[in-house]
Amino acid sequence: MKQDTLCVQAGYKPKNGDPRVLPLYQSTTYFYESTEHVGKLFDLACEGHMYSRISNPTVAALEEKLAAMEGGVGAMMTSSGQAANLISLLNLCKSGQNFLSTAAIYGGTVNLFGVTMKKMGIEARFIDQDKPLEALLAAADENTRAVFCESLSNPSMAVADFEKLSALAKSLQVPLIVDNTFPTPINCRPFEWGADIVTHSSSKYLDGHASSVGGIIVDSGRFNWENGKFPDFCQPDESYHGVTYVKDFGAAAFIVKARVQLMRDLGSAPSPFNAYLTNMGVETLALRMQRHCETAQKAALFLESHPLVESVDYPDLPGNRYNGLAKKYMPGGTAGVVSFSLKGGREQAIRFMDALQLAAIVVHVADTRTCVLHPASATHRQLTDGQLKEAGISPGMVRLSVGIESCEDILADLAQALEKAN
Ligand SMILES: *Cc1c(COP(=O)(O)O)cnc(C)c1O
Repeated sequence: MKQDTLCVQAGYKPKNGDPRVLPLYQSTTYFYESTEHVGKLFDLACEGHMYSRISNPTVAALEEKLAAMEGGVGAMMTSSGQAANLISLLNLCKSGQNFLSTAAIYGGTVNLFGVTMKKMGIEARFIDQDKPLEALLAAADENTRAVFCESLSNPSMAVADFEKLSALAKSLQVPLIVDNTFPTPINCRPFEWGADIVTHSSSKYLDGHASSVGGIIVDSGRFNWENGKFPDFCQPDESYHGVTYVKDFGAAAFIVKARVQLMRDLGSAPSPFNAYLTNMGVETLALRMQRHCETAQKAALFLESHPLVESVDYPDLPGNRYNGLAKKYMPGGTAGVVSFSLKGGREQAIRFMDALQLAAIVVHVADTRTCVLHPASATHRQLTDGQLKEAGISPGMVRLSVGIESCEDILADLAQALEKAN
């Protein structure tokens, strides 16, 4: 089935007389007729829900939908996008090991990788994805266990060169993890370009209405865990009475280990209600992405031609440095986020934002309502000037996230605010 059909139909399959809409199972616990059955569940010898920290039927339906949309063998929802990226890396790396990450990524991820994971003894080595493969390879060593990138970076809108990054991961014999939050599986399917693991902040377009914080990890099921670098996948897990992930779960080894080991221990589980709302959001994802992209393209063209605007970062613009990669990997469009810088720098950017009437200043992106943010003083405030530059952010950059209101109204609001900022 096509993506727009999967958005609506995948995940929940009601039986005769069941509710047509995915029910909200707001329950921590499940009922069993015998102690013997509970024992089997704890041995992972039969399928079923045990406790909502590990799994829940409402959450499971959304996981199945996202796995189908990304083309993976399984998925696990988390309480946030941050938890999704953290768990996907902790599932691969331990203290003393490192991973490569492109530098142009979300500010929260820069902190997680560069500060908090560093304290855990796991080193993120930031790489400039525009450099040639040989230069990227030089950053790795025998302790490298993953390559991480964003398919479309927040907020600098750099498009990942999947061919180069998957060649990098392949030659290191480690998985390529792709945070696919911005384009969503409607506009980009990283597994088709060599990615092994996909993550999302579902707080953005998947939910789409700014109602629920959440994350998701999807497993392609294609990585060979028996190449000698990942003994935890091939040897008995002492914290799980000797389960051996590759032997017992085959292609789903990564996602099962993430759930029964890391979700069990770290507990960053989503609430069933958030999964319920996010699933409702995903039903209209294909429609919304189309509209977001159409309006963003018009807004980018308008901004590019405006005398106060110094530069516009939107990969669907013909002159953008990532236009070739966008056409190749995201031929149907990228996302509804347009980042741009004003000639008058930080002060003018702030005057512009304060003059907006329809677009609201919020610490969010990618929902139905048009919004703006000044990355240098908000999401990326913790970054040094050097890190800001690496992340592709200038002090005067405004991140505009176009909503699904009338395009005419959005453009009129931009025009009047630019006039006042002059
Ligand atoms: C927002 C975001 C995150 C973090 O997700 P939360 O749901 O806010 O924890 C991670 N990656 C990208 C690309 C994001 O935009």
